[in-house]
Amino acid sequence: MPIFEYACQDCGREFETLVRSGAVPQCPQCQSTQLNKRLSVFATAAASEAVPAMPGPCGSCGHPGGPGSCSLH
Ligand SMILES: [Zn+2]
Repeated sequence: MPIFEYACQDCGREFETLVRSGAVPQCPQCQSTQLNKRLSVFATAAASEAVPAMPGPCGSCGHPGGPGSCSLH
């Protein structure tokens, strides 16, 4: 289950909570459901890892035919 961070719009409290699908998270302080969802640390890390690496300059792939011989460059 993912952990999400929320900031309560009513009292300003920030908290993390496990969110089951279909469940509505509540502020632990005032029980408000008026919450701003924030990106969790875990979600941010996963997103950055999903970014594909930039291809290197031609010749960096090690094709035996030499730079420019492979189909990618
Ligand atoms: Zn609150």
